[in-house]
Amino acid sequence: MDFDVIVVGARPAGAATAMLLARAGLRVLAVDRARFPSDTLSTHQIQIPGGALLRRWGILDKLIERGTPAARSVHFDAGPAVLRGDYAAHDGVDAVYSPRRTVLDALLVAEARAAGAIVEEGFVVEDLIRDGGHTGGGRVTGIRGKRKGATVARTITAHLVVGADGKHSTVAKAVRARTYRARPPLTAACYGYFADLPLKGGEVYTRPDRMVGLWPTGDDLTIVYLGVPVSRFSDVRRPEGFRAAVSEPGDLRDRIAAATLVEHLRATTDVPGLIRHPYGPGWALAGDAGLVMDPITGQGIGNALRDADALAAAIVATFDGDRKAFRAYHRARDAARRPIYDLTARFAAFRPDPAGEILFPALAEDPAQVARFLGVLAGTVAVRDFFSPANLRSVVGARGLLRMAAARAAARLFR
Ligand SMILES: Cc1cc2nc3c(=O)[nH]c(=O)nc-3n(C[C@H](O)[C@H](O)[C@H](O)COP(=O)(O)OP(=O)(O)OC[C@H]3O[C@@H](n4cnc5c(N)ncnc54)[C@H](O)[C@@H]3O)c2cc1C
Repeated sequence: MDFDVIVVGARPAGAATAMLLARAGLRVLAVDRARFPSDTLSTHQIQIPGGALLRRWGILDKLIERGTPAARSVHFDAGPAVLRGDYAAHDGVDAVYSPRRTVLDALLVAEARAAGAIVEEGFVVEDLIRDGGHTGGGRVTGIRGKRKGATVARTITAHLVVGADGKHSTVAKAVRARTYRARPPLTAACYGYFADLPLKGGEVYTRPDRMVGLWPTGDDLTIVYLGVPVSRFSDVRRPEGFRAAVSEPGDLRDRIAAATLVEHLRATTDVPGLIRHPYGPGWALAGDAGLVMDPITGQGIGNALRDADALAAAIVATFDGDRKAFRAYHRARDAARRPIYDLTARFAAFRPDPAGEILFPALAEDPAQVARFLGVLAGTVAVRDFFSPANLRSVVGARGLLRMAAARAAARLFR
């Protein structure tokens, strides 16, 4: 075999997996059709557990040195009430960071190389090869692909191929990975970078027909994200419609009017939700290739880093003879991710929830619970813990809980 592991895709999931495997002493090749530094269609706030992994790997300080600001507090305007709070520290990280992908992804690639992985840029994987060198069924034993512009495809072999190649994963398709809980795109996502739009931390505005998020990023720019139902894509995909839509909530009108949109506006409806079975003979999946959710809750990069951490450990254990490590990786991923996957789908559906009229005003009166709610979105508090009946009762009281249930039942009746 040419390598122990070939990783297809070298952004958060792939570069981090390659780095960790190389640090563990394995012979690793990572390939990506992209060249680095390069941008990709994504806003980029990294939730706190992702930041904590970057810190543990010695990368967070380098991102900060390269000008990535910290968002330590959030202004969360839910409509019926505004919640303000600081993030609680988790594994030494108390902020959400939003490095440009040109910065984050290039740094991860550099760290993978520094650890000893070979990273080949501009290399497109076309198919996988199996036992005996064929491309049909059987254990995966490598990749077939070529450098951009080359006419002849190369075959490279490995004991394991990791698909970290994003939501349209070539690896997942080649192995026909089983898909479950798939959802069609529910939102259109548009975002732009603004100069002269100062922030104190992050800002989020949720309304029945839109979600607006503002986060500080490098070069003194503010990234402004807009999520709307997919049916409204044509209204907001151009700068005038976008500016109008993000100006509406809170005090944004004057601030957006005074700010300058720099670079072009980015917009997409390619935001499906799906989960894939993440391993099989000779292959495994990490990041969006294995589980992708609507960007409205900004979870994907942190998830990709967490997958890299867990999958690299499972690969090392498997090479050491542990036959159950991949199954444990799969179970732990789904147990950790499914609650936020489902909550994200609820946000993305823009289905009015009248219970919010009761929950948010009560929450705003209770700073400890505000911190817990913000922790749900930042990935440090379990969705189930916050939304458990016992916890909600402590926020709104027993009568409030009954009123929330009644409001939801009435909404269902009249829908
Ligand atoms: C509009 C939008 C906004 C978002 N905002 C956020 C946010 O604020 N915070 C957040 O955490 N997440 C956000 N996300 C999600 C985030 O972008 C992804 O979850 C994250 O990039 C997943 O990382 P990954 O490494 O798994 O895959 P990717 O970043 O998609 O990287 C996959 C890599 O694989 C390569 N590749 C694919 N196929 C091949 C092939 N055949 N051969 C060679 N290379 C290949 C690609 O070139 C690419 O570089 C957003 C997504 C969108 C669309």
